[in-house]
Amino acid sequence: MTETLTLPQVIEPTIFELSSPGRTGVTFPEPDVPRSDLPAELLRADLPLPELAEVDVIRHFMHLSHLNYSVDGGFYPLGSCTMKYNPKINEDMARLPGFLFTHPLQPIETVQGSLALMYTLQEWLKEISGMAAVSLQPAAGAHGELTGVLIMRAYHRDRGDHRRTKMLIPDSAHGTNPASSGMVGLQVVQIPSDSRGNVDLNALKAQCDETVVGLMLTNPNTLGLFDEHLEEVIRTVHECGGLVYGDGANLNALVGVMRPGDIGFDILHFNLHKTFSTPHGGGGPGSGPVGVAAHLADYLPSPIVGIIEEGTDDLAPLFGFIHPPRSIGRVKAFHGHFGVLVRAYTYIAMHGAEGLRAVAENAVLNANYLRARLQDTYHIPYNRVCMHEFVAEGRFPGSDVRALDISKRLMDYDFHPPTNYFPLIVHEALMIEPTETESKRTLDAFADAMLRIAEEARTQPELLHEAPHRTPVGRVDEVKAARDLVLCCWFPENQ
Ligand SMILES: *Cc1c(COP(=O)(O)O)cnc(C)c1O
Repeated sequence: MTETLTLPQVIEPTIFELSSPGRTGVTFPEPDVPRSDLPAELLRADLPLPELAEVDVIRHFMHLSHLNYSVDGGFYPLGSCTMKYNPKINEDMARLPGFLFTHPLQPIETVQGSLALMYTLQEWLKEISGMAAVSLQPAAGAHGELTGVLIMRAYHRDRGDHRRTKMLIPDSAHGTNPASSGMVGLQVVQIPSDSRGNVDLNALKAQCDETVVGLMLTNPNTLGLFDEHLEEVIRTVHECGGLVYGDGANLNALVGVMRPGDIGFDILHFNLHKTFSTPHGGGGPGSGPVGVAAHLADYLPSPIVGIIEEGTDDLAPLFGFIHPPRSIGRVKAFHGHFGVLVRAYTYIAMHGAEGLRAVAENAVLNANYLRARLQDTYHIPYNRVCMHEFVAEGRFPGSDVRALDISKRLMDYDFHPPTNYFPLIVHEALMIEPTETESKRTLDAFADAMLRIAEEARTQPELLHEAPHRTPVGRVDEVKAARDLVLCCWFPENQ
């Protein structure tokens, strides 16, 4: 690996630099409407457009796409994100013309198949989670949180209970939890973790009073640990009149094994792009359906898909939209990210109940295997049997190597780095989530690289400080990048 140090940094040419006057990649068809001149003020003679042949364009973007790291390209142990492989059959199903070419304003009689799929997905998510009703509208986990907090607020207000303004959130929580509570105007109260990584029960009890809206709880939490007093935590919050919101981002560890609804969660979001293998997509659509217990079903975002005319022996039921009576309203245009719903439906249908349980079991097994291989070399502060991920410290006694250095060096070994510096309660955190889709061979290759990097940290720390060495862009100055943003695309005059 060391010899790669001498490789020069590759500077990728931009499409403008590849441009050559007179080359062209398109032939326009003869217009089938009369020609007319555009207003002169709409035409910009100084607009630099690159001139390239089709092959130049294809090679340029093909090449750039190969520079991207992806789940299809390699191991992606980004903790909390559940970067599992996205089966290609999901894509085939989402591209079926009957799904692809529907319009959300079509009469419901013409989109019964799509509505049946949404209805079935709602039913499956209810079955998987133990919740009583589900809305597919929210566009992501964070959006599901916002939806859930709005439901909690509406529920308390409806009961004439106007004193409740406090949302309790453990210190291991994802940043979206306090953010979504803050957006609804609630006061966020942080609950510390105890020495075993659980919610600190005494701290929780001290905060539970008649001003509590509820608790937002991620279980297993972002340390990858199942709360050892889960039932007592939930009971404590309920006893003071609060509701318990489950951040379902870590459902991959539980699916088919334990149902949050059965143990008392009042609300839960699902991240379809985590647990149910839909793409995280370079900024593209995710999906964060929300499930609620029976006493909150009337508050779900409207509309949800329901049966509006029961079927008979000869006739299929008629699916349509129903409007929960106390709905908090619409949280998304139309009906959520339908293409993503088709992918999640396909994933669940392909696995079945047994298959989903195997997903959770293997996700937990893989994480514990990696934990066991790394625990003698990397300090793991809350080291007990983990669920689908674990958090190690990226630092060594007497060394100035940091988690960031280890992560950057991993890129030289062709691995995506784990999540860094989160959760905040672990110093130099490296949060590692392998998922069930990885083979033992991949897990071993990753563990070998991690052990080798620990050795390099001792013998050649500069190798880590200067990493990555094999990527088109080397170590970026993150402070400068944040302070001195260049968001505009390349134009000759910006050079
Ligand atoms: C991913 C994640 C979220 C937010 O979900 P998005 O779908 O990314 O909006 C919230 N909490 C935890 C613990 C997460 O891992």
